[in-house]
Amino acid sequence: MHSILDNRPELKAQIDAVAEVAGYLWMKGWAERNGGNITVNVTEWVDDALRAMPALEEARPIGTVLPKLKGCWFYCKGTGRRMRDLARDPMANGSLIRILDDCASYEIVADRPVLPTSELPSHLNVHDYLIGKGLPYKASLHTHPIELVALTHGRKWLQKDAATRMLWSMIPETKAFCPRGLGMVPYMLPSSVELADATLKTLDEGYDVVMWEKHGVFAVDTDIMNAFDQVDVLNKAAQIYIAAKNMGFEPEGMSAEQMQEMTAAFGLPK
Ligand SMILES: [Zn+2]
Repeated sequence: MHSILDNRPELKAQIDAVAEVAGYLWMKGWAERNGGNITVNVTEWVDDALRAMPALEEARPIGTVLPKLKGCWFYCKGTGRRMRDLARDPMANGSLIRILDDCASYEIVADRPVLPTSELPSHLNVHDYLIGKGLPYKASLHTHPIELVALTHGRKWLQKDAATRMLWSMIPETKAFCPRGLGMVPYMLPSSVELADATLKTLDEGYDVVMWEKHGVFAVDTDIMNAFDQVDVLNKAAQIYIAAKNMGFEPEGMSAEQMQEMTAAFGLPK
């Protein structure tokens, strides 16, 4: 079947990376049923011929006005679609959309008219924020990492940076590869405006990965593989903590001196 990705290797590589990550999310048990979301700003890989293509359907309202997204293009997971299906066939379980000049509506320009995730407004809101801040981040990921979610059922880990400090101290690479730590957002109704606002506020405090209590993570990074890696590194640290607890003791964690030494040696933020 003809695809709009034919003869567009750079755009295809971006979408292949989304499919690869979707497969990892399923294999790790982080993406049950249609759980999780991915959106990627692919504007820089959209050529003039693609820009000139007609939409597959009439324009739809985003539900909000996002001035920084004028003329932007996104790959979005389809609403109700499974990550494990997206891994096999990203263009049948997701679509490309372009934001129209009113900054309030979008059109689907893709192989099939797959309707984007119901979380589109909150994801696009984050992309609008990232562009406004001048950040090079292109990808946003929401998923349900088992051990990190389990951690948020314990009150003490919900305090600001308590989980970050513990996770960083489990294995040196955690701070090296997730240097901004894990932001914490208290439980709020999924898909609510309140949750979207709290997520944006936490990103604005400097975190790349935001934990939603008893639900999952929301991560942003330069591309989808890097966003996945940050969550993977944090969840690995949570698994080490749990493994030590399962052996019947409280893990010691790296000392404050060891953390300071590594922070200086790797030139990480304090
Ligand atoms: Zn979720």
